[in-house]
Amino acid sequence: MTIKELFFKLLSFKSITPDDDGAYEFIKSYMQDWEVIELNIEDTKNLILYKKFGDGLHLSFAGHIDVVPCDENWKSDPFSPLEKDGYIYARGAQDMKSGVCAFLYTCKNLEDFNGTISILLTSDEEGDGTYGTKKILQYLKKEDFLPDCAVVAEPTCSEFFGDSIKVGRRGSINGIVEIFGRQGHAAYPEKSINTIHKIAPILDKLAEHCFDGGDEFFAPSKLVLTDIRSGYEVTNVTPGHLKFMFNVRNSTKTKKEDVEEYIKELLQDCEFTLKLSRGSYPFITDKNSILIEKMTKSVEQVLHVKPAHSTAGGTSDARYMGFYGIDVVEFGTRNDTIHAPNERVKFEEVEKLVEVYEHFLKSF
Ligand SMILES: [Zn+2]
Repeated sequence: MTIKELFFKLLSFKSITPDDDGAYEFIKSYMQDWEVIELNIEDTKNLILYKKFGDGLHLSFAGHIDVVPCDENWKSDPFSPLEKDGYIYARGAQDMKSGVCAFLYTCKNLEDFNGTISILLTSDEEGDGTYGTKKILQYLKKEDFLPDCAVVAEPTCSEFFGDSIKVGRRGSINGIVEIFGRQGHAAYPEKSINTIHKIAPILDKLAEHCFDGGDEFFAPSKLVLTDIRSGYEVTNVTPGHLKFMFNVRNSTKTKKEDVEEYIKELLQDCEFTLKLSRGSYPFITDKNSILIEKMTKSVEQVLHVKPAHSTAGGTSDARYMGFYGIDVVEFGTRNDTIHAPNERVKFEEVEKLVEVYEHFLKSF
């Protein structure tokens, strides 16, 4: 099977979260001489494939087979890959069947490696991921088979292919605040507690507040307001209740407790409730680790560009690996059309990604 045949095959599975639509059966037969572990929990299907080539380290390639749904703005069938002007159009073309295709092809044709390679696949990364990669890692931990390091093949490049590898991810903290006052008549403001007036003087201390100054790897941890609502859409009633929401993408320098303390201090003159939840923890892989060093070199030598070491963007399953202390790096194609209608990838990027992974594995 050529890279293109493999890629088209993967793209033709209608694997909308958490359905693999038969993709795993195909992958198992494609990787026929690899050991198989299936971890199906509730509606999520996880597939672990591994092969011991030698006694050295255990390296994993990780990815998700699921894709997000498609709307009516597609010009072609999202699950019948269409090739045009060097691009392949299909749902998952970038996110992330490109990466899955590249590591499957690389591993299938790998002849030797001083250690064990495993492939970790989940059918729920785009959903809430409760039974996905988190469960795979719990299982591997229990079996004493956690990898030493991992490559997550998410699409990481923004302007051009090779411009960035991800060496960590920011964390995410969500907040919901409710402020309670006393509703009243606009003509008698002294008789009410107007919750909009309560928040007005501190709005600029909320919007874009930075909890830290960032560092070499992380942008400052900034508070971003996502919703404020209060009032009754009339001009003669003052509101007695206000609710606002925010998100902080945090670096390793800011913790949930720091956010809590700051909000409480700001709202000390209000009656309020605060609900904080942690979407994910921030993590960073040491830039001097062999994993980062080797991936950087492979990108440089195959693509002739120097990739930036980035932690930008949303979250990925790499965060769970960071949590277990596994060194993790992410490198894949460009990500300019992910989750969008008419998602596409330049096919050349998929071929070159195979070359990067081959070079990377050889360097161990
Ligand atoms: Zn993805």
